[in-house]
Amino acid sequence: MQIQPFSVNDGEGIRTNIFMAGCPLRCRWCSNPEGFRQEEVVGWYSRRCIGCGACVSVCPEGIGTDMNSGNGRELCTACGACVSVCPEKARTRMVTLMDADEVIREIHRYRLFFSYSGGGVTFSGGEATSQPELLEYLSRELYDMGYSLTLESCGYFDFDSVRPALERMDLIFMDLKHMDPEVHREFTGVSNEKILRNIAGLGTLAGSRDIVIRIPVIGGVNNSEDNIKASADYVKSVLPEAKMELLPYHRLGQVKYEALGLPFGQEGFYTPDKEEMNRLKALVREQGIKTADYR
Ligand code: SF4
Ligand code: SF4
Repeated sequence: MQIQPFSVNDGEGIRTNIFMAGCPLRCRWCSNPEGFRQEEVVGWYSRRCIGCGACVSVCPEGIGTDMNSGNGRELCTACGACVSVCPEKARTRMVTLMDADEVIREIHRYRLFFSYSGGGVTFSGGEATSQPELLEYLSRELYDMGYSLTLESCGYFDFDSVRPALERMDLIFMDLKHMDPEVHREFTGVSNEKILRNIAGLGTLAGSRDIVIRIPVIGGVNNSEDNIKASADYVKSVLPEAKMELLPYHRLGQVKYEALGLPFGQEGFYTPDKEEMNRLKALVREQGIKTADYR
């Protein structure tokens, strides 16, 4: 779990994002690799490190300054001792275990910003639906307290187990990464069938809310006009009132892969330029779907 206050890109107004660790997908362009698994993680940002050795002197596992070399990663228990002493914040907690009520207390701290800006709370990840009991508890408590709630999801979840949580949301963002099930599997590790079913399922929720189907546009993977058109056609057929948001691929997550000692492996992807993005967004609108722009 990570809490990020003052976000303005993930829903209306000023929001606090709750990043819930664990994700059933392994998108090859992912920019949040720390959220793959539900476990505490400490990272090492080598560019900030001045080699003072304070981390080494407190580590109960005897891990060296470069915790990503040798068997440092296997030995690390994420105890956080090095994080406390590092003068440069080169050692950082990237995923932390938090009690649900602690999360709610943290949310309360920002309630004035929410009411002034029309903001609220955004559940994100990792994948928020990968912890359905926690999502149920947090969304119920925060909904009863009157907070505006938003969910960002990869769309791969058991619909009935999260239906009540979905019905508490004012806004749902759901991803649609490729219309071809085999290409989807190749680049994310799973087929798109469940995701397509769940996108259609959003139309069966009680109450009203805004729905935005998001395509992260990855140059070389899903940026063909055929795929964007097919995606818009599908959304139009099952959720005619939904909007779509197209987000260009970026490499901002590269530094996190380095901090975790993971291979980056995204060399084959490129960022579509503004002209291409505008052309693809126009294509979506031509299919009768409004486009949204939260970023
Ligand atoms: S988190 Fe704990 S075990 Fe891991 S490197 Fe830091 S001090 Fe060592
Ligand atoms: S305490 Fe921080 S700055 Fe010092 S060696 Fe360790 S990681 Fe580098």
